[in-house]
Amino acid sequence: MKKSQDKLTRRKLLKTLSSLPVVGGLVGTGLLTPQMMHAAVETPASRNFFKELGLRTFINAAGTYTSMTGSLMSDNVLSAITFGATEYVDLDELQDKVGERIAELLECEYATVTSGAFGAMSIGMAGVLCGMDTSKVSQLPDTTGLKNEVILQEAHNIGYSQALTNVGGKLVRVKTAKELEKAINKNTAMLWFLNANTEEGEIKREEFVAVGKKHGIPTFIDCAADVPPVENLFKFTKMGFDLVAFSGGKGIRGPQSAGLLLGKRKHIEAARLHTPPRGTTIGRGMKVNKEEVLGMLAAVETYLQKDHDAEWKLWESQIKLISDSALSVKGVKTEIHVPPHANHVPSLRITWDENVVKITAEDARKKLKDGHPSIATVGNKDTIGITTWMMVPGQERIVAQRVKEVLENA
Ligand SMILES: *Cc1c(COP(=O)(O)O)cnc(C)c1O
Repeated sequence: MKKSQDKLTRRKLLKTLSSLPVVGGLVGTGLLTPQMMHAAVETPASRNFFKELGLRTFINAAGTYTSMTGSLMSDNVLSAITFGATEYVDLDELQDKVGERIAELLECEYATVTSGAFGAMSIGMAGVLCGMDTSKVSQLPDTTGLKNEVILQEAHNIGYSQALTNVGGKLVRVKTAKELEKAINKNTAMLWFLNANTEEGEIKREEFVAVGKKHGIPTFIDCAADVPPVENLFKFTKMGFDLVAFSGGKGIRGPQSAGLLLGKRKHIEAARLHTPPRGTTIGRGMKVNKEEVLGMLAAVETYLQKDHDAEWKLWESQIKLISDSALSVKGVKTEIHVPPHANHVPSLRITWDENVVKITAEDARKKLKDGHPSIATVGNKDTIGITTWMMVPGQERIVAQRVKEVLENA
C-alpha cells in the first residue's frame, strides 16, 4: 500500500473509531495503538446495539415470527455459539459428528443441521431429486432427466412448498387418498405433508406414509413449528416419514437461521451433497456456520432436558393472568385455546363489544405496539391474539397491565 493511501485509510479508521462510544475519547491523543484499536472494536457487554441503531425492541406476545426475529436463545446455546467462534474445524466433519449426535438424541437414523426448516426442505428435496449421483447435483433447478413431481394435498399448499419448487420440484395437488394414488406415476419424486394443516387435509399422516411405502416413494413432513410437544421430535421419523424438518429458532429456541433435517441416512447424505463447503450447488447459499451447528446441538440438548410440564403450567398461568386482567374491563371477552398442530401452546383471544369498548382491535394492537414498553401481538380485525411462550418470564405482568389500560381507556 502506498504511503498516502495508508494515511487515508488510517484517517478513515480513526474517524470510524471516534464514533464508537468507548474509543471516541482516545482518538487523536496518540494513545491508540493497533492492539487497542482491535480491542476497542470488541463489544463491551453493556453496549446496546439496538439503541445505537435507533431500533425499538418489544415484548413478544405474538409468537415465533421470523419478522419478529423468532425466539430468544438460552445461555446454553449462546455459550455453544461463543465457543464455536474460538477455533477452526472442518465443516463437513463437524456436520457429520453433530448429525450423529442429534440422531442419537432424537432416536432417528440420521440428522443434519440446516439453514432453517425452509432450507431443510430445499436440500432434502434436492437430495431426493439427485440421490447420490454427484454428476446431477450441479444441474438443479433444471430437472431434465430426473423424476421431479412432488405430490401434496391442496389444503397443505400454503406457501412453504416454495422451498421444494425453488430447487426444481414440480407440485402436483390432490384432495383425496384416491386422487393421491392416481397422481403417482413414473415421474413422482416425493410426497410432502404439512403437519400444521393436518386437520385441513383429508389424508392423514399414517395413510400418507403408507401410500409412500407402497409405491417406494419418499415422504417428507414439514414440522417447522411443531414443538411443543417435545414428543414430536421423535414421532414422525418413527411413524415412517423418510424426512422431517423442524425450525431451529421456534420452540427449540436455537439459532433463528438454523433448522433440523431428520430421517433416513441415504436421503440426508444425498441432501448434504448440495450444501457447503461444496460449491456449484443449489444449496451453496444455505450455509450454516460452525457456531450455528453447535448452537443447534446445544438447543436440542437443552430442549430435551427441559421440564416441559412445568413450562406448560407457567404458560397457562401467564395466559390466565392476562385473560383475567382483560376481563376486568367491562364488555371484554376472552377465550383460551391451544392450536392442535403447530404453535401448540396456550393462546389467548381477546374480543370485545365495540359499543362498550370503543376501539377497533387493529387500533388496540397498534396502541400496544406504540406504547411503553412496546408489545407485539397478533390478531385480525376483531381480536387481539396473545401467547406467552416467547416472553421473558415476568413480562406477562406488563402485558396484562397494558392490555387492561388500552381497553379501559378506549
Ligand atoms: C416457520 C415455518 C417454516 C420456515 O421455517 P424456517 O425455520 O423459518 O426456515 C416452514 N414451514 C412452516 C409450516 C413454518 O411454520
